[in-house]
Amino acid sequence: ARRKMVAGNWKMNGARDANAMLLHDIVFDAKRYTAVDMVVCPPALYLESVGAALTGSSVQLGAQNLCEQEKPGAFTGEIHGGMLKDVGCAYVIVGHSERRALYGESDEVVAQKFQTALACGLKPILCLGETLEERESEQTEIVLGRQLAAVLARVGANGFKSAVIAYEPVWAIGTGRTASAEQAQAAHAFIRGELANADAKIADSTRILYGGSVKADNAQALFSCRDVDGGLIGGASLKATEFLAICAAAQ
Ligand code: 13P
Repeated sequence: ARRKMVAGNWKMNGARDANAMLLHDIVFDAKRYTAVDMVVCPPALYLESVGAALTGSSVQLGAQNLCEQEKPGAFTGEIHGGMLKDVGCAYVIVGHSERRALYGESDEVVAQKFQTALACGLKPILCLGETLEERESEQTEIVLGRQLAAVLARVGANGFKSAVIAYEPVWAIGTGRTASAEQAQAAHAFIRGELANADAKIADSTRILYGGSVKADNAQALFSCRDVDGGLIGGASLKATEFLAICAAAQ
């Protein structure tokens, strides 16, 4: 059985005071969700202070991005995976659609980042997802298959042993328009099937999270789908009551 996971992607949000208040509430309640792996992914600048606030709790730390370069060096403005590990990250999000669409990350760069994350001892959370246009032109499976294949080509199925996948349809991100449970389940089953073509055992144990307008009131329906193993939460991860209610739905 796959353990449920709920990860909060804060995106470019947060401030020292607001983070402290949010984490206070999350850490206090986290004890109740013994069946859920809880993760928070703050902006890189706050990783260290957020990590300190998580000390003694079961909530784990994740980063939102890393540099694809294998070795540190002259890459102004970038952050090496080893540094993320050094400040206490267990996870790192790779290939979020905002990185792909707004910062030009190709499937190949995403695959490099995934590989570098593994080399640094981080667990990648690989985001896959189609745009509305792609869905409407029935390209969803082609896009998901291509995005996954690029990573598989670089690291093989064994590269997924510690990894997590997040299915995040672009049209559902920040729009309030969540995928239906049926749409999510179909995409998750497809992704698991693609991974199973490479290695059935690894596919069976790999968690696939759903992301895109998950809220306290739709989490239960999504998480009860057979191939949905939790959620990657954007906006709702910034409010303690919402985020905790989503964790409760995964419990
Ligand atoms: P929202 O939950 O704000 O739609 O964002 C989802 C997301 O992109 C998480 O990575």
